[in-house]
Amino acid sequence: MSLKTLPFTPARIEDIALEYSTPFHIYDEKAIRENARAFYRAFDWVPGGFINYFAVKALPNPHILKILREEGMGADCSSLPELLLARAAGIKPEHIIFTSNDTPAGEFIRARKMGVVINLDDISHIPFLEKAAGLPAILCCRYNPGPLKGGNAIIGKPEEAKYGFTGEQLFEAYGMLKQKGLTRFGLHAMVASNELRGDYFIETAALLFHLAAEINRRTGVRFEFINLGGGVGIPYRPDQDPVDLVSLSRGIRRLYEEIIVPAKLDPLGITMECGRMVTGPYGYLVSRVLHKKQTYKTYVGLDACMANLMRPALYGAYHHISVPGREEGPREKADVTGSLCENNDKFAIDRELPVTSPGDLVVIHDTGAHGHAMGFNYNGKLRSAELLLTPSGKVRIIRRAETLEDYFATLDSRWGLVPRPRDGGGD
Ligand SMILES: *Cc1c(COP(=O)(O)O)cnc(C)c1O
Repeated sequence: MSLKTLPFTPARIEDIALEYSTPFHIYDEKAIRENARAFYRAFDWVPGGFINYFAVKALPNPHILKILREEGMGADCSSLPELLLARAAGIKPEHIIFTSNDTPAGEFIRARKMGVVINLDDISHIPFLEKAAGLPAILCCRYNPGPLKGGNAIIGKPEEAKYGFTGEQLFEAYGMLKQKGLTRFGLHAMVASNELRGDYFIETAALLFHLAAEINRRTGVRFEFINLGGGVGIPYRPDQDPVDLVSLSRGIRRLYEEIIVPAKLDPLGITMECGRMVTGPYGYLVSRVLHKKQTYKTYVGLDACMANLMRPALYGAYHHISVPGREEGPREKADVTGSLCENNDKFAIDRELPVTSPGDLVVIHDTGAHGHAMGFNYNGKLRSAELLLTPSGKVRIIRRAETLEDYFATLDSRWGLVPRPRDGGGD
């Protein structure tokens, strides 16, 4: 069971909504910090050190990255803009891993200049990187276990996934890198997404620990760290349980003692790249009911839409919905919709909810990862603001809402065709 509570009272969120106007995402800093601390406490036994590289794509806001940096996290970046955000947040290059795929040469060059750890996606990227930017002192390679590992709904079966090296390619790659004079190595896999079974990650660790020992036997390469990837899920539904990080860590520790220590690979660093479980549960999309509509069904039309939170439309994902101040009242079954000209622009379908009226606030839970980040401008929708609820209870705006000027800013303005936001009142 996960309790779907809110970090603000109905009166407080109404005040915030009046001040900042809906829709917006609001993130609970205190809960993010407490969760990060519990995560690190669970892994404080790792002899070679533990670090979670926060997957920046989940919540690419440097104000959040700075909070996570203060809690000891690094950053997992997949593009130049994400690298720049991580650096702007003050994260040291050695605490940034660049896990990209289908990477442009220019991004390898920048990553190399910044001195971040590069995680290669393919054996052909070794000569590609060498030619574009030269090989760095430390490199990591991404393993795709193929049929050795069962699939997972969002990321799919490993053998169908475009990512990573095969096992055989890894032996060849590390041998080649060693020959080229590299001395520092990491090994990485990322095979799950939103996975709630802790055992799944323990199995991944077993696979990687055995592989690291085998690569060491065959090539003499000694790993500095093993990166177990991200993918730890969160309980989007009230009847789901979060992953128990303490027992997950205990399972990994047992394997460390069974595999890594006898293989004489101790001390070894263990790293992860969790994004979703770090911030996901601590973000909320706050929106107001614009319309109630009764046709063949009941519709609750919000001032937010799929452009603010795409997961329900994209994956049919469940996001819990609360109606502050109305939770004890009568309930009804409704579809909760946005205003896009797309019938899948629905936050919930046939959901039992408190009866709402236009003007009521509606809070959509678990939007702290892949919420604002996946936003887009289709149908002329502007991306919302992001707010931070600080531990003192004060609210800080950490990203303003887009304006019409922002939306038109990239148009070629030389031909008098760019609308002026205040026009349109008739000739
Ligand atoms: C998305 C991604 C992550 C983070 O996944 P979460 O589900 O947010 O933990 C980590 N590593 C890579 C390479 C990714 O693509």
